[in-house]
Amino acid sequence: MATVIIVGAGISGVTAAIELKNRGHKAVLVDPGPIPHPLAASTDISKAVRAAYGPDEDYTALAEDCIPIWREWNKQFGTELYHETGVLFVCRHKMRPGDFEYESARVLEKHHHPFDRFDATEFHQRFPAFAPERFQDGFFDPVAGYAESGRAVATLVDYAKTLGVELREQAKVVGIDESDRSVNGVVLENGQRISGDAVVIAAGAWTPYLIPRTTPFFRATGHPVFHLKPSKPELFLPERFPFFGADISTTGFYGFPLNQGIVKIANHGGGREFSPDSSERFVTAEEEHQLRAFLRSTIPSLADDPIVYTRICMYCDTNDGDFWIAPDPERPNLIVSTGDCGHGFKFAPVLGKITADAVEGKPNPILKKFRWRPEVKFGVTKEAARFEG
Ligand SMILES: Cc1cc2nc3c(=O)[nH]c(=O)nc-3n(C[C@H](O)[C@H](O)[C@H](O)COP(=O)(O)OP(=O)(O)OC[C@H]3O[C@@H](n4cnc5c(N)ncnc54)[C@H](O)[C@@H]3O)c2cc1C
Repeated sequence: MATVIIVGAGISGVTAAIELKNRGHKAVLVDPGPIPHPLAASTDISKAVRAAYGPDEDYTALAEDCIPIWREWNKQFGTELYHETGVLFVCRHKMRPGDFEYESARVLEKHHHPFDRFDATEFHQRFPAFAPERFQDGFFDPVAGYAESGRAVATLVDYAKTLGVELREQAKVVGIDESDRSVNGVVLENGQRISGDAVVIAAGAWTPYLIPRTTPFFRATGHPVFHLKPSKPELFLPERFPFFGADISTTGFYGFPLNQGIVKIANHGGGREFSPDSSERFVTAEEEHQLRAFLRSTIPSLADDPIVYTRICMYCDTNDGDFWIAPDPERPNLIVSTGDCGHGFKFAPVLGKITADAVEGKPNPILKKFRWRPEVKFGVTKEAARFEG
Protein backbone atom coordinates (compact mmCIF):
# COMPACT_ATOMS: atom_id res chain seq x y z
CA MET A 1 0.00 0.00 0.00
CA ALA A 2 1.51 3.31 -1.08
CA THR A 3 0.72 6.91 -0.18
CA VAL A 4 -0.17 8.69 -3.41
CA ILE A 5 -0.53 12.47 -3.58
CA ILE A 6 -2.85 13.69 -6.36
CA VAL A 7 -2.35 17.32 -7.34
CA GLY A 8 -5.60 18.77 -8.73
CA ALA A 9 -9.22 17.87 -7.92
CA GLY A 10 -10.71 18.25 -11.37
CA ILE A 11 -12.14 15.13 -13.10
CA SER A 12 -8.66 13.63 -13.72
CA GLY A 13 -7.60 14.02 -10.09
CA VAL A 14 -10.78 12.94 -8.32
CA THR A 15 -11.25 9.82 -10.48
CA ALA A 16 -7.60 8.85 -9.91
CA ALA A 17 -7.98 9.35 -6.13
CA ILE A 18 -11.12 7.17 -6.02
CA GLU A 19 -9.50 4.36 -8.03
CA LEU A 20 -6.23 4.43 -6.06
CA LYS A 21 -8.19 4.35 -2.80
CA ASN A 22 -10.26 1.42 -4.07
CA ARG A 23 -7.01 -0.39 -4.87
CA GLY A 24 -5.95 -0.04 -1.22
CA HIS A 25 -3.59 2.94 -1.47
CA LYS A 26 -3.69 6.01 0.76
CA ALA A 27 -4.87 8.83 -1.53
CA VAL A 28 -4.30 12.50 -0.67
CA LEU A 29 -6.14 14.89 -3.02
CA VAL A 30 -4.75 18.45 -3.02
CA ASP A 31 -6.40 21.52 -4.59
CA PRO A 32 -6.47 25.26 -3.82
CA GLY A 33 -10.28 24.95 -4.08
CA PRO A 34 -13.11 25.63 -3.64
CA ILE A 35 -13.94 22.30 -5.34
CA PRO A 36 -15.18 22.18 -8.06
CA HIS A 37 -12.68 24.95 -8.71
CA PRO A 38 -14.39 27.82 -10.62
CA LEU A 39 -11.44 28.11 -13.04
CA ALA A 40 -11.11 24.36 -13.65
CA ALA A 41 -11.96 23.04 -17.12
CA SER A 42 -14.17 20.42 -15.45
CA THR A 43 -16.39 23.08 -13.87
CA ASP A 44 -19.30 23.85 -16.20
CA ILE A 45 -22.97 22.92 -16.65
CA SER A 46 -22.33 20.41 -19.43
CA LYS A 47 -19.75 18.42 -21.38
CA ALA A 48 -20.58 16.23 -24.36
CA VAL A 49 -20.44 12.45 -24.02
CA ARG A 50 -20.13 10.85 -27.47
CA ALA A 51 -18.66 7.82 -29.24
CA ALA A 52 -18.44 9.64 -32.58
CA TYR A 53 -14.71 10.36 -32.89
CA GLY A 54 -13.91 10.59 -36.56
CA PRO A 55 -11.51 7.84 -37.67
CA ASP A 56 -10.05 7.30 -34.19
CA GLU A 57 -11.44 3.94 -33.04
CA ASP A 58 -9.55 4.03 -29.73
CA TYR A 59 -11.64 6.92 -28.44
CA THR A 60 -14.86 5.42 -29.85
CA ALA A 61 -14.15 2.16 -27.98
CA LEU A 62 -13.24 4.05 -24.79
CA ALA A 63 -16.43 6.12 -24.98
CA GLU A 64 -18.48 2.96 -25.54
CA ASP A 65 -16.98 1.57 -22.32
CA CYS A 66 -17.89 4.81 -20.50
CA ILE A 67 -21.55 5.32 -21.50
CA PRO A 68 -22.93 2.32 -19.53
CA ILE A 69 -20.93 3.48 -16.46
CA TRP A 70 -22.35 7.01 -16.76
CA ARG A 71 -25.80 5.38 -16.65
CA GLU A 72 -24.75 3.35 -13.57
CA TRP A 73 -23.43 6.50 -11.87
CA ASN A 74 -26.86 8.07 -12.29
CA LYS A 75 -28.30 5.14 -10.31
CA GLN A 76 -25.41 4.86 -7.82
CA PHE A 77 -25.51 8.56 -6.92
CA GLY A 78 -29.31 8.87 -7.24
CA THR A 79 -29.06 11.93 -9.51
CA GLU A 80 -28.99 12.41 -13.29
CA LEU A 81 -25.41 13.52 -13.91
CA TYR A 82 -25.50 12.11 -17.45
CA HIS A 83 -28.35 12.91 -19.86
CA GLU A 84 -28.64 10.48 -22.74
CA THR A 85 -30.23 12.98 -25.14
CA GLY A 86 -28.12 11.99 -28.17
CA VAL A 87 -25.66 13.97 -30.30
CA LEU A 88 -25.99 15.47 -33.73
CA PHE A 89 -23.24 16.15 -36.24
CA VAL A 90 -24.22 18.01 -39.39
CA CYS A 91 -22.34 19.39 -42.37
CA ARG A 92 -23.06 21.82 -45.18
CA HIS A 93 -22.18 19.34 -47.93
CA LYS A 94 -22.73 15.65 -48.48
CA MET A 95 -20.57 13.67 -46.02
CA ARG A 96 -17.43 12.48 -47.80
CA PRO A 97 -14.45 10.27 -46.90
CA GLY A 98 -11.96 12.05 -44.65
CA ASP A 99 -14.59 14.26 -43.03
CA PHE A 100 -15.11 14.04 -39.28
CA GLU A 101 -18.78 13.26 -39.87
CA TYR A 102 -18.20 10.64 -42.57
CA GLU A 103 -15.42 8.90 -40.64
CA SER A 104 -17.46 8.98 -37.41
CA ALA A 105 -20.44 7.34 -39.14
CA ARG A 106 -18.16 4.77 -40.76
CA VAL A 107 -16.63 3.77 -37.40
CA LEU A 108 -19.99 3.80 -35.58
CA GLU A 109 -21.39 1.49 -38.27
CA LYS A 110 -18.36 -0.79 -37.89
CA HIS A 111 -19.01 -0.87 -34.13
CA HIS A 112 -22.72 -1.62 -34.68
CA HIS A 113 -23.42 1.62 -32.81
CA PRO A 114 -26.90 2.85 -33.83
CA PHE A 115 -27.33 6.22 -35.56
CA ASP A 116 -29.78 7.91 -37.89
CA ARG A 117 -28.68 9.59 -41.07
CA PHE A 118 -30.91 12.24 -42.64
CA ASP A 119 -31.13 14.71 -45.47
CA ALA A 120 -31.79 18.45 -45.30
CA THR A 121 -35.59 18.22 -45.28
CA GLU A 122 -35.83 15.56 -42.60
CA PHE A 123 -33.16 17.34 -40.58
CA HIS A 124 -35.13 20.59 -40.45
CA GLN A 125 -38.35 18.81 -39.54
CA ARG A 126 -36.66 17.08 -36.59
CA PHE A 127 -34.51 19.99 -35.47
CA PRO A 128 -36.43 23.20 -36.38
CA ALA A 129 -34.19 25.64 -34.46
CA PHE A 130 -31.55 25.35 -37.17
CA ALA A 131 -31.83 27.53 -40.31
CA PRO A 132 -33.60 25.66 -43.15
CA GLU A 133 -31.37 24.36 -45.96
CA ARG A 134 -28.28 25.18 -43.86
CA PHE A 135 -27.11 21.60 -43.64
CA GLN A 136 -27.18 18.96 -46.35
CA ASP A 137 -26.16 15.87 -44.44
CA GLY A 138 -25.40 14.47 -41.03
CA PHE A 139 -26.30 11.94 -38.39
CA PHE A 140 -27.94 11.66 -34.99
CA ASP A 141 -26.43 9.24 -32.47
CA PRO A 142 -29.00 8.46 -29.73
CA VAL A 143 -26.53 6.57 -27.47
CA ALA A 144 -24.75 9.73 -26.32
CA GLY A 145 -25.56 13.03 -24.66
CA TYR A 146 -23.99 15.27 -22.04
CA ALA A 147 -22.79 15.18 -18.44
CA GLU A 148 -23.33 17.96 -15.91
CA SER A 149 -19.60 18.28 -15.35
CA GLY A 150 -19.42 20.55 -12.34
CA ARG A 151 -22.06 18.55 -10.48
CA ALA A 152 -20.31 15.33 -11.45
CA VAL A 153 -17.02 16.54 -9.93
CA ALA A 154 -18.79 17.67 -6.73
CA THR A 155 -20.59 14.32 -6.47
CA LEU A 156 -17.39 12.32 -7.05
CA VAL A 157 -15.44 14.41 -4.50
CA ASP A 158 -18.13 13.70 -1.89
CA TYR A 159 -17.97 10.02 -2.82
CA ALA A 160 -14.16 10.06 -2.56
CA LYS A 161 -14.44 11.44 0.96
CA THR A 162 -16.81 8.62 1.96
CA LEU A 163 -14.18 6.16 0.74
CA GLY A 164 -11.55 7.78 2.98
CA VAL A 165 -9.68 9.84 0.39
CA GLU A 166 -7.89 12.62 2.32
CA LEU A 167 -8.94 15.94 0.78
CA ARG A 168 -6.56 18.89 1.27
CA GLU A 169 -8.48 22.00 0.13
CA GLN A 170 -7.08 25.57 0.18
CA ALA A 171 -3.76 23.87 -0.55
CA LYS A 172 -1.82 25.06 -3.61
CA VAL A 173 1.20 23.02 -4.68
CA VAL A 174 4.10 25.28 -5.64
CA GLY A 175 6.78 22.65 -6.09
CA ILE A 176 7.63 18.97 -6.30
CA ASP A 177 9.96 17.66 -3.58
CA GLU A 178 12.29 15.75 -5.87
CA SER A 179 15.65 14.06 -5.59
CA ASP A 180 17.79 12.54 -8.34
CA ARG A 181 15.57 9.87 -9.89
CA SER A 182 12.39 10.07 -7.73
CA VAL A 183 9.98 12.40 -5.97
CA ASN A 184 9.31 12.41 -2.24
CA GLY A 185 6.21 14.57 -2.15
CA VAL A 186 5.00 18.11 -2.79
CA VAL A 187 5.60 21.58 -1.36
CA LEU A 188 2.61 23.79 -0.61
CA GLU A 189 2.32 27.56 -0.95
CA ASN A 190 2.38 27.88 2.86
CA GLY A 191 5.74 26.05 2.94
CA GLN A 192 4.25 22.83 4.28
CA ARG A 193 5.43 19.55 2.70
CA ILE A 194 3.28 16.49 2.06
CA SER A 195 5.32 13.29 1.70
CA GLY A 196 4.28 10.39 -0.45
CA ASP A 197 5.51 7.33 -2.33
CA ALA A 198 4.17 8.69 -5.61
CA VAL A 199 2.79 11.97 -6.96
CA VAL A 200 0.14 12.31 -9.68
CA ILE A 201 0.01 15.69 -11.41
CA ALA A 202 -3.62 16.20 -12.54
CA ALA A 203 -3.45 19.99 -12.70
CA GLY A 204 -4.97 20.35 -16.18
CA ALA A 205 -3.87 23.47 -18.06
CA TRP A 206 -1.82 24.58 -15.04
CA THR A 207 0.56 21.62 -15.58
CA PRO A 208 3.20 23.38 -17.78
CA TYR A 209 3.28 26.24 -15.23
CA LEU A 210 3.65 23.87 -12.28
CA ILE A 211 6.27 21.70 -14.03
CA PRO A 212 8.07 23.99 -16.51
CA ARG A 213 10.07 21.16 -18.10
CA THR A 214 6.80 19.95 -19.65
CA THR A 215 6.27 23.14 -21.66
CA PRO A 216 7.59 21.50 -24.85
CA PHE A 217 4.68 19.04 -24.68
CA PHE A 218 1.80 21.02 -23.18
CA ARG A 219 0.12 24.32 -24.06
CA ALA A 220 -2.62 26.01 -22.08
CA THR A 221 -5.17 27.45 -24.52
CA GLY A 222 -8.36 29.39 -23.75
CA HIS A 223 -11.66 28.77 -25.58
CA PRO A 224 -14.87 30.85 -25.40
CA VAL A 225 -18.06 29.48 -23.84
CA PHE A 226 -21.41 31.32 -23.93
CA HIS A 227 -24.60 30.72 -21.95
CA LEU A 228 -27.66 32.20 -23.65
CA LYS A 229 -31.21 32.62 -22.32
CA PRO A 230 -33.49 31.61 -25.23
CA SER A 231 -36.63 33.68 -25.86
CA LYS A 232 -38.21 30.52 -27.37
CA PRO A 233 -37.04 27.81 -24.94
CA GLU A 234 -39.40 25.23 -26.45
CA LEU A 235 -37.21 25.13 -29.58
CA PHE A 236 -34.21 24.01 -27.53
CA LEU A 237 -35.65 21.06 -25.67
CA PRO A 238 -33.31 18.02 -25.97
CA GLU A 239 -35.60 16.04 -28.29
CA ARG A 240 -35.53 18.92 -30.82
CA PHE A 241 -32.12 20.39 -30.04
CA PRO A 242 -29.64 17.76 -28.77
CA PHE A 243 -25.90 18.36 -28.38
CA PHE A 244 -24.73 19.37 -31.85
CA GLY A 245 -21.57 19.96 -33.85
CA ALA A 246 -22.35 22.34 -36.74
CA ASP A 247 -19.95 21.56 -39.59
CA ILE A 248 -17.57 21.37 -36.70
CA SER A 249 -14.30 21.01 -38.64
CA THR A 250 -15.08 24.29 -40.44
CA THR A 251 -16.97 26.46 -37.94
CA GLY A 252 -15.77 25.01 -34.62
CA PHE A 253 -19.20 25.76 -33.12
CA TYR A 254 -21.08 23.25 -30.99
CA GLY A 255 -23.79 23.49 -28.38
CA PHE A 256 -26.07 21.86 -25.89
CA PRO A 257 -29.81 21.49 -25.32
CA LEU A 258 -31.76 23.63 -22.87
CA ASN A 259 -30.32 22.92 -19.42
CA GLN A 260 -31.28 24.95 -16.34
CA GLY A 261 -32.99 27.43 -18.73
CA ILE A 262 -29.72 27.98 -20.60
CA VAL A 263 -28.46 27.10 -24.08
CA LYS A 264 -24.67 26.73 -24.01
CA ILE A 265 -22.76 27.39 -27.23
CA ALA A 266 -18.98 27.14 -27.47
CA ASN A 267 -16.26 27.18 -30.07
CA HIS A 268 -13.54 24.64 -30.60
CA GLY A 269 -10.58 26.16 -32.45
CA GLY A 270 -6.89 26.87 -31.87
CA GLY A 271 -7.82 28.97 -28.85
CA ARG A 272 -5.63 31.69 -27.27
CA GLU A 273 -2.49 30.60 -25.41
CA PHE A 274 -2.03 31.97 -21.90
CA SER A 275 -1.78 30.81 -18.28
CA PRO A 276 -5.05 29.73 -16.64
CA ASP A 277 -4.38 32.48 -14.06
CA SER A 278 -3.86 35.14 -16.79
CA SER A 279 -5.70 38.48 -16.71
CA GLU A 280 -6.44 37.93 -20.42
CA ARG A 281 -8.86 35.18 -19.48
CA PHE A 282 -12.09 36.76 -20.64
CA VAL A 283 -14.28 36.45 -23.74
CA THR A 284 -13.41 39.17 -26.26
CA ALA A 285 -15.76 41.36 -28.30
CA GLU A 286 -14.43 39.61 -31.40
CA GLU A 287 -15.33 36.16 -30.01
CA GLU A 288 -18.82 37.41 -29.18
CA HIS A 289 -19.09 38.92 -32.67
CA GLN A 290 -18.19 35.53 -34.19
CA LEU A 291 -20.84 33.84 -32.06
CA ARG A 292 -23.56 36.28 -33.18
CA ALA A 293 -22.56 35.82 -36.83
CA PHE A 294 -22.75 32.04 -36.42
CA LEU A 295 -26.16 32.22 -34.75
CA ARG A 296 -27.56 34.56 -37.41
CA SER A 297 -26.57 32.11 -40.15
CA THR A 298 -27.33 28.85 -38.34
CA ILE A 299 -29.68 29.25 -35.33
CA PRO A 300 -31.55 32.48 -36.15
CA SER A 301 -34.05 32.15 -33.30
CA LEU A 302 -31.17 32.49 -30.81
CA ALA A 303 -29.25 35.23 -32.66
CA ASP A 304 -30.47 38.19 -30.58
CA ASP A 305 -31.12 36.41 -27.30
CA PRO A 306 -29.20 37.63 -24.24
CA ILE A 307 -25.84 36.15 -23.23
CA VAL A 308 -26.16 35.66 -19.48
CA TYR A 309 -22.72 34.22 -18.74
CA THR A 310 -19.41 33.70 -20.52
CA ARG A 311 -16.19 32.00 -19.58
CA ILE A 312 -12.84 31.14 -21.09
CA CYS A 313 -12.34 27.45 -20.49
CA MET A 314 -8.81 26.08 -20.70
CA TYR A 315 -7.50 23.10 -22.66
CA CYS A 316 -4.20 21.45 -21.80
CA ASP A 317 -3.15 20.77 -25.39
CA THR A 318 -0.63 18.15 -26.42
CA ASN A 319 1.20 18.12 -29.74
CA ASP A 320 -1.02 15.43 -31.26
CA GLY A 321 -4.37 15.92 -29.53
CA ASP A 322 -4.09 12.75 -27.44
CA PHE A 323 -4.12 12.58 -23.63
CA TRP A 324 -0.91 12.31 -21.60
CA ILE A 325 -1.08 9.76 -18.78
CA ALA A 326 2.39 8.50 -18.02
CA PRO A 327 5.23 8.34 -15.49
CA ASP A 328 8.14 10.72 -16.00
CA PRO A 329 10.96 8.47 -17.30
CA GLU A 330 13.47 10.40 -15.17
CA ARG A 331 11.33 10.12 -12.00
CA PRO A 332 9.08 7.07 -12.41
CA ASN A 333 7.05 7.79 -9.26
CA LEU A 334 5.94 11.14 -10.73
CA ILE A 335 2.92 10.49 -12.96
CA VAL A 336 1.45 13.20 -15.18
CA SER A 337 -2.26 12.77 -16.02
CA THR A 338 -3.38 15.62 -18.25
CA GLY A 339 -3.30 16.68 -21.92
CA ASP A 340 -7.11 16.69 -22.18
CA CYS A 341 -7.05 18.80 -25.40
CA GLY A 342 -10.64 19.74 -24.70
CA HIS A 343 -12.14 16.27 -24.89
CA GLY A 344 -11.37 14.38 -21.67
CA PHE A 345 -14.41 14.78 -19.46
CA LYS A 346 -16.57 12.13 -21.11
CA PHE A 347 -13.97 9.51 -20.17
CA ALA A 348 -14.37 10.14 -16.41
CA PRO A 349 -15.65 6.56 -15.87
CA VAL A 350 -12.31 5.08 -17.06
CA LEU A 351 -9.79 7.91 -16.46
CA GLY A 352 -9.14 6.86 -12.84
CA LYS A 353 -8.35 3.27 -13.84
CA ILE A 354 -6.00 4.37 -16.63
CA THR A 355 -4.13 6.74 -14.27
CA ALA A 356 -3.97 4.13 -11.47
CA ASP A 357 -2.55 1.58 -13.95
CA ALA A 358 0.14 4.14 -14.86
CA VAL A 359 0.91 4.70 -11.14
CA GLU A 360 1.17 0.94 -10.45
CA GLY A 361 3.01 0.22 -13.72
CA LYS A 362 0.21 -2.13 -14.74
CA PRO A 363 -0.11 -3.04 -18.46
CA ASN A 364 -3.00 -1.20 -20.19
CA PRO A 365 -3.08 -1.03 -24.03
CA ILE A 366 -4.40 2.56 -24.10
CA LEU A 367 -1.35 3.77 -22.16
CA LYS A 368 0.70 3.38 -25.36
CA LYS A 369 -1.39 6.15 -26.93
CA PHE A 370 -1.03 8.34 -23.80
CA ARG A 371 2.67 7.54 -23.21
CA TRP A 372 5.43 10.06 -22.35
CA ARG A 373 6.23 11.16 -25.93
CA PRO A 374 8.59 14.15 -26.21
CA GLU A 375 9.41 12.99 -29.75
CA VAL A 376 6.00 14.15 -30.96
CA LYS A 377 6.51 17.79 -31.91
CA PHE A 378 4.01 20.66 -31.98
CA GLY A 379 1.96 20.90 -35.18
CA VAL A 380 1.78 17.14 -35.82
CA THR A 381 -1.98 17.03 -36.29
CA LYS A 382 -2.87 13.37 -36.77
CA GLU A 383 -5.92 13.90 -38.94
CA ALA A 384 -7.82 16.95 -40.05
CA ALA A 385 -11.02 15.02 -39.32
CA ARG A 386 -10.79 15.41 -35.59
CA PHE A 387 -13.00 17.29 -33.24
CA GLU A 388 -12.22 17.75 -29.60
CA GLY A 389 -15.08 18.45 -27.12
C1 LIG B 1 -14.40 24.94 -23.69
C2 LIG B 1 -14.24 23.50 -23.30
C3 LIG B 1 -15.19 22.60 -23.70
C4 LIG B 1 -15.04 21.25 -23.40
N1 LIG B 1 -16.01 20.40 -23.82
C5 LIG B 1 -15.86 19.08 -23.53
C6 LIG B 1 -16.88 18.18 -23.94
O1 LIG B 1 -17.89 18.58 -24.51
N2 LIG B 1 -16.69 16.85 -23.65
C7 LIG B 1 -15.58 16.38 -23.00
O2 LIG B 1 -15.44 15.18 -22.84
N3 LIG B 1 -14.60 17.23 -22.59
C8 LIG B 1 -14.73 18.55 -22.85
N4 LIG B 1 -13.77 19.42 -22.43
C9 LIG B 1 -12.56 18.90 -21.79
C10 LIG B 1 -12.75 18.70 -20.30
O3 LIG B 1 -13.27 19.87 -19.72
C11 LIG B 1 -11.40 18.33 -19.72
O4 LIG B 1 -10.91 17.20 -20.38
C12 LIG B 1 -11.42 18.03 -18.23
O5 LIG B 1 -12.30 18.85 -17.56
C13 LIG B 1 -10.00 18.18 -17.70
O6 LIG B 1 -10.03 17.87 -16.34
P1 LIG B 1 -8.72 17.98 -15.46
O7 LIG B 1 -9.06 17.40 -14.15
O8 LIG B 1 -7.57 17.40 -16.21
O9 LIG B 1 -8.43 19.55 -15.36
P2 LIG B 1 -9.24 20.66 -14.56
O10 LIG B 1 -10.68 20.34 -14.52
O11 LIG B 1 -8.84 21.95 -15.12
O12 LIG B 1 -8.72 20.50 -13.04
C14 LIG B 1 -7.41 20.85 -12.70
C15 LIG B 1 -7.42 21.10 -11.19
O13 LIG B 1 -6.05 21.31 -10.79
C16 LIG B 1 -6.06 22.26 -9.76
N5 LIG B 1 -4.72 22.85 -9.67
C17 LIG B 1 -4.14 23.64 -10.60
N6 LIG B 1 -2.92 24.05 -10.15
C18 LIG B 1 -2.76 23.46 -8.92
C19 LIG B 1 -1.72 23.49 -7.94
N7 LIG B 1 -0.60 24.21 -8.16
N8 LIG B 1 -1.89 22.81 -6.77
C20 LIG B 1 -3.03 22.08 -6.56
N9 LIG B 1 -4.05 22.00 -7.46
C21 LIG B 1 -3.91 22.69 -8.62
C22 LIG B 1 -7.14 23.25 -10.17
O14 LIG B 1 -7.60 23.99 -9.07
C23 LIG B 1 -8.21 22.33 -10.78
O15 LIG B 1 -9.19 21.98 -9.82
C24 LIG B 1 -13.90 20.79 -22.68
C25 LIG B 1 -12.96 21.71 -22.22
C26 LIG B 1 -13.11 23.05 -22.53
C27 LIG B 1 -12.06 24.00 -22.06
